[in-house]
Amino acid sequence: MGDVEIGIIGGTGLGDILLKEAGGTPTEVDTPFGRPSCPPIIATWEGRRVAFVARHGAGHTFNPTNVPYRANIYALKQLGAAAVIASGATGSLRENIHPGELVVCDQVIDRTSRRSSTFFDEGLAVHVELADPFCPTLRRDLVAAAAQLDLTTHDGGTYVCMEGPQFSTRAESHLHRAWGGDVIGMTAMPEAKLAREAELCYALVALPTDYDCWRPHPGDPPHDALLREILGNLKLASQRALTLIRQFLRVYNPSSRTCGCGSALKLAIWSDLNGLAPAVRQRLGSLVERYIS
Ligand SMILES: [Zn+2]
Repeated sequence: MGDVEIGIIGGTGLGDILLKEAGGTPTEVDTPFGRPSCPPIIATWEGRRVAFVARHGAGHTFNPTNVPYRANIYALKQLGAAAVIASGATGSLRENIHPGELVVCDQVIDRTSRRSSTFFDEGLAVHVELADPFCPTLRRDLVAAAAQLDLTTHDGGTYVCMEGPQFSTRAESHLHRAWGGDVIGMTAMPEAKLAREAELCYALVALPTDYDCWRPHPGDPPHDALLREILGNLKLASQRALTLIRQFLRVYNPSSRTCGCGSALKLAIWSDLNGLAPAVRQRLGSLVERYIS
């Protein structure tokens, strides 16, 4: 285990900051689930030991389906992180969530179907609770950090996670709104599920860049109006997320945690761990070792 306190998963812009401002070091890491999207950048930033993973890899080469989610979460766990802050671009499904604002999500509707969404896919059965998929303590601290900044940040919101990589049809966009979705993106799942299985606190800052396609554009919009809107707002939203994460690192107090993320597996392992096959134990040992008597 390393000395990292907090993992950060997000866009490459944040990695550039860590490299330049904090003198971060890319560190090769291998896991039983392969290599992460890119070598995590480890740095001391705002007084914290952090490790950053660019979710889509250097050069943005992994599409949302092919991101190595398991390796990314496992790598951060191996490096010592107890908590993960993630950020990701989304579309807004609500009139009052304006592009450029931030949303500290509290719920997810998972519509993905082609991703490995568990560490425990063979050799043992594990059923973690996921009623609240984001850590309440991290959410609290993110919202508190946002209150100290001049940033419009929404406390709570339901993230609809679609498979992609194409954006929604208009009918789907209306359906997601009818389901109660507030933002739509392509990466929160299985990231949040895997973080819970790895007993990591995990919270997500969604960055709305556009109004998806449910909301008519005024006038006679160009055929690529949505893409223009997304690209135009992405940099602004990313900068604001960076400001929020930096402030979060200043106020984060792990000793005040009241969540159960760190013991999520305590009652969730339904297999007899003493009968675990050696190969399974070798593969998953670091996740379940402390529960083997
Ligand atoms: Zn937690």
